[in-house]
Amino acid sequence: MIGAGIVGAACALALRDEGLDVALVDAASPGSGVTAAGMGHLVALDESEDELDLCLLSLRMWRQFCARHPGVGDPSPCGTLWVAENEHQLQEAHLRAQRLSARGYGADAVGGDQLRHLEPALRRGLCGGVRVSGDSVVYPPAVADFLARQLVAKGGELHAGQRVISIGQGSVTLANGTLLAAGRIVLAAGVQAAALMPEIPVFGRKGHLAITDRYPNTLNHQVVSMNYGQPAPGEDALSVAANVQPRATGQWLVGSCRQDRQESLEVDPAVLAQVLRSAIALLPRLANMHVVRAWTGMRPATPDGRPLIGPHPARKDVWLACGHEGLGVTTSFGTAALLAAQLTGRAAPLDAAPYLPSRFTSMREMQHVL
Ligand SMILES: Cc1cc2nc3c(=O)[nH]c(=O)nc-3n(C[C@H](O)[C@H](O)[C@H](O)COP(=O)(O)OP(=O)(O)OC[C@H]3O[C@@H](n4cnc5c(N)ncnc54)[C@H](O)[C@@H]3O)c2cc1C
Repeated sequence: MIGAGIVGAACALALRDEGLDVALVDAASPGSGVTAAGMGHLVALDESEDELDLCLLSLRMWRQFCARHPGVGDPSPCGTLWVAENEHQLQEAHLRAQRLSARGYGADAVGGDQLRHLEPALRRGLCGGVRVSGDSVVYPPAVADFLARQLVAKGGELHAGQRVISIGQGSVTLANGTLLAAGRIVLAAGVQAAALMPEIPVFGRKGHLAITDRYPNTLNHQVVSMNYGQPAPGEDALSVAANVQPRATGQWLVGSCRQDRQESLEVDPAVLAQVLRSAIALLPRLANMHVVRAWTGMRPATPDGRPLIGPHPARKDVWLACGHEGLGVTTSFGTAALLAAQLTGRAAPLDAAPYLPSRFTSMREMQHVL
């Protein structure tokens, strides 16, 4: 398994639990990639039925994980409050409430007054929204680290601080020259997957985040604008939507935005200002809070917004688990369950077709090259 982010670590442990011998290799340490840069919102997104299927499977598995390992990753069952700023968004919010409720996932449409009652920090005059009570928040790097340690406790291997520089048939080569043999190789290198296999259509989608000083008991839910969603791939334009998370420490974690074709991880003050302004537009008291740190992260995005889970269509015994964009923490456990079923030939817990790497011609065409 190449990559010990939340996705690779979850997959490695699931495969070990299937009785396979697993070696997990990471260029740095478990959970230190994009997994450490994101928000850790465990959220049911419903832009498509496939997305919702993978989210709901994963969220069930997150609940089981949290029940089995209390306290790991500081889980907080805060729920999500999706906020509509206009009538169109309110209609969308009501549809979301219906779609989630129809799948047995608690979601209630709320009016403007109720919104302020649930979240007094919201400004007056908002149209309403939807409260999704099953959503929650974790600290993802701590979970990835825990999963990697569980792997080792169960007899798997962890090779931290070891960069894979090439993938051959039946082995990978590390930067120090060591050859690691493997019957099957899973690439879970997140946004760096294409550095090892250029045909993989995963690219970086930059996001800015900021965190405030501690203001305990000032925010109850993860508050997200109904404007939130994925832009079309390759969009140069900046897409900003308020997304504010209450941390267990009393801090507010403030995002977010999406920007493609960005090489640098530097914080762009103008972009950060737009992110903060959009959050202040919903939660005015943020304007008087002290921001202690800001950073960015590159979401591992794909052209159709879905992750790549399954066999490489052209490279024998190479499997992929990457490209989870802004949902990789949420969908890590479902990804692991799907990959484990595919690798062992068991019935998949959901339809694998939308996630198969072979849906991309760039991947299929490799058959002619290799
Ligand atoms: C601003 C922002 C906000 C986000 N908010 C959320 C959210 O609220 N909820 C949610 O579900 N998701 C969120 N995400 C998305 C989520 O963080 C990612 O989808 C997820 O972390 C991807 O995990 P990963 O394991 O695929 O990648 P990573 O965490 O990047 O892990 C990949 C690992 O592979 C290793 N690696 C790479 N190349 C090599 C190599 N050649 N050899 C060895 N090791 C290698 C790296 O060191 C790294 O540890 C957010 C992301 C961003 C940027």
